[in-house]
Amino acid sequence: MNCNLCGTPLGDKIYDSGDALSLTSLCNVHDGRTEVYVCGCCAHVQSAAMADIDAYYDDSYDILIDSEEEDQIYEVVACRKVYRTEHQVKVLRDKLALTTGTRILDYGCAKSATMRTLVGQIPELEVHLFDVSDRYRPFWDKFITWERGATFELPADWKGSFDIVTSFFSLEHMAQPQEALRKIAALLKTGGTFYGIVPNVLSNTADLIVVDHVNHFTPPSLAWLLRANGFEVQEVSDSVHRGALVFVARKLAQPASAQPTVQDEVQAIVDRARRIADFWQQAGARVQAFEQTLAADAPVALYGAGFYGAFIASWLRQPQRIRCVIDQNAFLQGRQLHGAPVIAPADLPSDISALLVGLNPAHARQIVGEIPAFARRSLNCFYL
Ligand SMILES: [Zn+2]
Repeated sequence: MNCNLCGTPLGDKIYDSGDALSLTSLCNVHDGRTEVYVCGCCAHVQSAAMADIDAYYDDSYDILIDSEEEDQIYEVVACRKVYRTEHQVKVLRDKLALTTGTRILDYGCAKSATMRTLVGQIPELEVHLFDVSDRYRPFWDKFITWERGATFELPADWKGSFDIVTSFFSLEHMAQPQEALRKIAALLKTGGTFYGIVPNVLSNTADLIVVDHVNHFTPPSLAWLLRANGFEVQEVSDSVHRGALVFVARKLAQPASAQPTVQDEVQAIVDRARRIADFWQQAGARVQAFEQTLAADAPVALYGAGFYGAFIASWLRQPQRIRCVIDQNAFLQGRQLHGAPVIAPADLPSDISALLVGLNPAHARQIVGEIPAFARRSLNCFYL
């Protein structure tokens, strides 16, 4: 296997889920293997592509499709919730000059809640949308005219016509990012801007084992991809959106000659990627080692309905031993997860003594230690 970006043959795997199930970015279980590599040339971190990747996005990728208004909370400032879309629009407007008549295309846009919000603020923008699925058309119809949207194929007359192309959490999914960047460069006017955001695997380390993220960009690998497709990199920021990289790049009239990567920087990032991979690999092995200390069919409770809990469930040799999933989020209680009901901590059955704690290890012990219902219980706890 070669690097998706620079083409260098990739060496040893840094992570392999083996027989464990894989997890998608939507926290669903995927019946396939997660294998992760790091490129020693451009510092790109890369997962083997899912076999059925095109069908997966066209048919089953249901990100927030249930509701128009559903959005993820980015942060809470002075008791006011700031949603991810709102934050993305704010950062975009901070970074780019948007004026009447600016032609802007959101590439790989899904529902494009970001563009919908932006049009609400600046109605004079000429917003266009593109994705590889028809399923989002009903959402687009609410804020753009039909001919400003395209699915599967790009209209020929869009070539060289855009001032700005945007990409919000999309490049990480693409099995052929070079091909996407070539198309994006061709859509822009000379001097036009490519603006985007991708997960930052170095700060959001769970991204490394998300099976549908083929690409885990690092600052040097992202810059490499942009330069290789005729862009001048104006900014790659790891601080304006938590857990993500925000980039601004300008399409040059003539591609610049190849710029060598800084080998010390690449090596430092390769080392960090290996440490992240080692954490997850050992965490999986530790789940199985803990399970071996339990009686054959001993039931367990899993604490945490999020990604860390799903990770533990994916590594259990006998996941059917999960009797209940404990979570403090009242909206989740009563639902089924990993084949078991989600319950409040106080409802933990008295005959369960083993607790698998699926929480970020940085905070897990404190959170579990402060639960009143567990204070009088003698629980055999496993922490990641
Ligand atoms: Zn590479």
